[in-house]
Amino acid sequence: MSVSSTSSSRYALQVHRVIRESPSVATICFERPSGFRYSAGQYVTVFFDDTGVSEGKAYSLSSHPDDIDLSITVKKVGLFSGKLHTLKAGDVVEISPAYGMFNAFGTAPLVALAAGVGIAPIYSIICHEVFRGSNRPIRLIYTNTVDEEIVFQDELDRLTQYAPQLEIQYIVTRQEDSDYFGPRMQGAEIARAFPDRAVCICGTVEFVRDLRRQLTLAGISDDDIMTEVFFKTSGVAG
Ligand SMILES: Cc1cc2nc3c(=O)[nH]c(=O)nc-3n(C[C@H](O)[C@H](O)[C@H](O)COP(=O)(O)OP(=O)(O)OC[C@H]3O[C@@H](n4cnc5c(N)ncnc54)[C@H](O)[C@@H]3O)c2cc1C
Repeated sequence: MSVSSTSSSRYALQVHRVIRESPSVATICFERPSGFRYSAGQYVTVFFDDTGVSEGKAYSLSSHPDDIDLSITVKKVGLFSGKLHTLKAGDVVEISPAYGMFNAFGTAPLVALAAGVGIAPIYSIICHEVFRGSNRPIRLIYTNTVDEEIVFQDELDRLTQYAPQLEIQYIVTRQEDSDYFGPRMQGAEIARAFPDRAVCICGTVEFVRDLRRQLTLAGISDDDIMTEVFFKTSGVAG
């Protein structure tokens, strides 16, 4: 058995492969069940019987709706994410259908702001826009602590070759010898540089809350800002 539906609300999926993206982040690719539909930016709930978390935990799909496989991209921070990092090809995991509304559909230029593993749903959204042949201008600003934690950098840089409307700015906050070393994102600057845009933000509570507040103070309507929050940390995002 490689794929089966365990009940109307869960799928048992076989892991195809695990890609080590960075010291702390791995992408887990699953066979996609027939009829499994989702929108770019949505998440699934993953269930492990032996973690004591019977309600499971949420993980954004980093694959995009036209991909053959499904994938999630996970930062190892605790028990559940640590267990996901031990998966190997052939293991079987249960997931829910896809949920969520994180995306900025439409034609307005898209500004995507990601911190750390917050790139997962944003990568899905960007791939979907590019592979469906949209000419929508997209600006990704992606912040991490150090170079080696930048996830999907090769894939993103390759996408810019297909899609000249995609521009990417990497920011690295804690490695002074990085080409990308620089100050954190500033909402006022983003609002000035990209008028009439839709904004998607994904990362920790603090990262999303601070940027959202800065953007609305800079005059961007709340209706034009879509957010997805992954975790609460006391430290610095990304
Ligand atoms: C809608 C949604 C989508 C999500 N998508 C993803 C995803 O695509 N990828 C992903 O990795 N996670 C994602 N998460 C978070 C995920 O659901 C878990 O909360 C996460 O994996 C931590 O679970 P854990 O049991 O391993 O650690 P926990 O025991 O819950 O946390 C351990 C400690 O680590 C802290 N912590 C959590 N994250 C970080 C971090 N990034 N940096 C520093 N400290 C941290 C926690 O605050 C806590 O103190 C998503 C959450 C939501 C709500």
